[in-house]
Amino acid sequence: MTTKKPLPASCNSKIQEKILSSPVGNILVTLCEEGLHSVGLEGDISDENFSPNESEVIQWVDEDNPAQTKVLTDCLSWFQAYFKDPALIDTVPRPEICCLRKSELGFRARVWQTLADTVGPGKVITYGALAARLENPGAVRAVGSAMRNNPVGIIVPCHRVVRSSGMGLYHGGKRQTMKKWLLRHEGVDKF
Ligand SMILES: [Zn+2]
Repeated sequence: MTTKKPLPASCNSKIQEKILSSPVGNILVTLCEEGLHSVGLEGDISDENFSPNESEVIQWVDEDNPAQTKVLTDCLSWFQAYFKDPALIDTVPRPEICCLRKSELGFRARVWQTLADTVGPGKVITYGALAARLENPGAVRAVGSAMRNNPVGIIVPCHRVVRSSGMGLYHGGKRQTMKKWLLRHEGVDKF
């Protein structure tokens, strides 16, 4: 969930950026012809300056030209549901996600897909268990790499991937308070 991820080699069609206000800060959304291309926090957020605001309204910040495409309305509905009550995300469609739409998914995309499909709000999974779920129990490091390169934070919930010995790192350890905030928001308070 950073603001500057390289585009996947197969996608060079980023066409629009939008900013969504949220309790964890402004979320930078990029869109491409495939749908939602990336989701990350705007700005260089770290444990030093992370300041969540529970009462922040989830809305497009730059709404001078209201965009009503399906991916944008789905994205807004998804985040409104997530921040109101994470359990509600099952009641709204997940936006079409670029990195999950490739016809032949590589290993990373299969990690993202499996995580998004099988590890819902309030659950956590270890790197090893996620590798095993992909029928590749030796691929723990590759799973870690997929998490570090997740283009679609929160929706592809890399914050739910933890170590067997503890919470594990988020953004290389820069956003531990945010990982804890997201997990607590979902009812996970053991970290
Ligand atoms: Zn794309």
